[in-house]
Amino acid sequence: MAYSKLVKPLSSELLHLTVLRSERLAPHWVRVTLGGGDIERFRPMGFDQWFRLFLPIGGEAGLDRVPAKANKIFGYLKFLRIPDGERPVMRNYSVRAHRPASADAGAEIDVDFVLHGSAADGTAGPASRWAETCRPGEHVLIIDEGLTFNPERGTDRVLLVGDETALPAISSICASLPAEAEGIALLEVPSADDALDFPHPDGVEVRWLVRPHSTTPGTLALGALRESALPRHPFHAYAAGEQSLASGARKHLVGERGVDKGAVSFCGYWKLGAASPASKTAREAAGEKAA
Ligand SMILES: Cc1cc2nc3c(=O)[nH]c(=O)nc-3n(C[C@H](O)[C@H](O)[C@H](O)COP(=O)(O)OP(=O)(O)OC[C@H]3O[C@@H](n4cnc5c(N)ncnc54)[C@H](O)[C@@H]3O)c2cc1C
Repeated sequence: MAYSKLVKPLSSELLHLTVLRSERLAPHWVRVTLGGGDIERFRPMGFDQWFRLFLPIGGEAGLDRVPAKANKIFGYLKFLRIPDGERPVMRNYSVRAHRPASADAGAEIDVDFVLHGSAADGTAGPASRWAETCRPGEHVLIIDEGLTFNPERGTDRVLLVGDETALPAISSICASLPAEAEGIALLEVPSADDALDFPHPDGVEVRWLVRPHSTTPGTLALGALRESALPRHPFHAYAAGEQSLASGARKHLVGERGVDKGAVSFCGYWKLGAASPASKTAREAAGEKAA
């Protein structure tokens, strides 16, 4: 059966949100909690819901100039016309958790940021640096992008593979699976302290792979996948993280294990040596041929 690859968001409006608080969870993790502003217009979908995040790196005035459809080709071209220095930084992040409004507090979204590189030698990346230094009251914008994990392809048996950038998505997928779901999650992290435990169905076995500093990100998870027995067919596979991990996992599953390509969702979350966004829209806007 053919399923659509992606699940569209229920709304793709530009939402103004405020940083409510941030918390250092582990050596490479900061959780930023967003709320206020337009939060009641955010429609949670569970699974690996992700969004475009616009950060006020050049000051908050730049946020007011972000066009409504900055995630689509014409809006993105308009976005690029905001002068350098004032143009917000656009990056992609996952909804780690959504809490609806209660009697005491408005709705909230947790976003878990991987801290990578070093601010001193300029390898950290603006989003990673922002997450480390943001303060309550700062404004950001988001545009919901929906899901890559399409639950129509099945939720009873899953194979989930990712590096640390996919940990928020995989944690959230596990929170959305039925309690009787079975499967395996292979998760590569930069240190044992960064293996942030998360609730998952009893039948989903979580295997942590701690990456030594000298090992290229993604290679441990890909190696573990090659050596793993797969869940009983049919299952839904999901691979995300460094580009070579995501595409390598799909290639391995489809090419060497005979998994139907319609049963594999995959997404390159970042690329070694290249700043984000490497999205189709950004590449098209930059004049490259879309893949
Ligand atoms: C759908 C989707 C959901 C995502 N969800 C999350 C999420 O919930 N949490 C999260 O932390 N990330 C997530 N990412 C990945 C995140 O968007 C990228 O890591 C992004 O490049 C970080 O932006 P930056 O400004 O810090 O670095 P950039 O300016 O994009 O990159 C600067 C340099 O840092 C390198 N780099 C980028 N990210 C990493 C990394 N994680 N480790 C090591 N080097 C890196 C790049 O190769 C480049 O050399 C997601 C990506 C996608 C597509």
